[in-house]
Amino acid sequence: MSASPVVACHLLDTGYCLAAEHHLIRGGRHQTVHCHSLVALLHHPDHGWLLWDAGYAPRMLDATARLPYALYRRVTPLRLDPALAVVNQLARWDLAPRDIRRVIISHFHADHIAGLLDFPDAALCATQTACEGIAGRTGIGALRRGFIPALLPTDFAQRVQALPTFSGAPLPGLGPTHDLCGDGSLRLVALPGHARGQIGLLARTARGPLLFAADGCWLTRSIRTNTPPHPITNLLVDDPRAVRRTIAGLHAFAAARPDVTIIPSHCPDAFAREVPRWA
Ligand SMILES: [Zn+2]
Ligand SMILES: [Zn+2]
Repeated sequence: MSASPVVACHLLDTGYCLAAEHHLIRGGRHQTVHCHSLVALLHHPDHGWLLWDAGYAPRMLDATARLPYALYRRVTPLRLDPALAVVNQLARWDLAPRDIRRVIISHFHADHIAGLLDFPDAALCATQTACEGIAGRTGIGALRRGFIPALLPTDFAQRVQALPTFSGAPLPGLGPTHDLCGDGSLRLVALPGHARGQIGLLARTARGPLLFAADGCWLTRSIRTNTPPHPITNLLVDDPRAVRRTIAGLHAFAAARPDVTIIPSHCPDAFAREVPRWA
C-alpha cells in the first residue's frame, strides 16, 4: 500500500436540498437541515482527472417539473445555484469538461447523477448491480428507485464500465474492495441498502485517506454512534435492513481505521468541515 500513488482531491458543493434532521437520524432534532450534494474532483498522476459522482445541476429543475418526477422535489425541496454545477466550477482548476476522463457513480439517485450530461466524453463507472437496478425503468418504477431517466446520457450503455461483485482485499467492517486503478490509490467498496448496488470510495490522498461514503448514511453522527435513520425513510431506500448493516459496518470501519476521514455525501458537518467557500 505504501508504494501506491496519492491522488489530489478537491471537494465541491453542487447545491442542497432541505431535510428534517429527525428523519436523517433516529433521535435527531425536529429541525430543517441543508443536505448539500458533495462531489470529489480527483486527480490521479497516471489516470488524470476523475469525478466521484456528478452532483446536482440546474437541469434537475426541468427534470422534476412534472409528475411523477415532481414528487422527488416534494420529498427533497431543492436549492440549486447554476454556478455550483460541477461543469461551472472546473475553470477554477483551468479544466474543461473533456478533461474529466471518468465519472465514478456511487449510485443512480438523481442528486448524484444530475451533472452527468455535462461530461459527454467521460467514461462512466458503476456496479453491475446498480446498472441492473435502473435498467429500463421509467415513470413511477424509476422514481421508486430515486432515478430520473432524463438525467442519464443516451449513450450510457456504451460508456459505462459495469463492475462485477468486488473480490479484492477487504476493508474492516465493510468487506471486499475493487482496486480501480490497480495501484491501491482508489478502492471501491459495496455500501448496500440505501440504493441498489451503491458503493463507497477509499481514496489515498495527500492529506491522508478519505472514505467517500455516498449515502451509506446521511450524517457522520450515524457512524460515530451507530444510529440508523428514522424508520419513515424505509419507504425511500432499497433495503432497510442492509442500511442498518452498512451503518454498523461504517461504525466498525471507523473504529478500526481512525486514520481515515469519512465523508458522507450530504452530511452538513462534513460540508462545513471539508468544502472551501469560494465566494
Ligand atoms: Zn441516494
Ligand atoms: Zn444522495
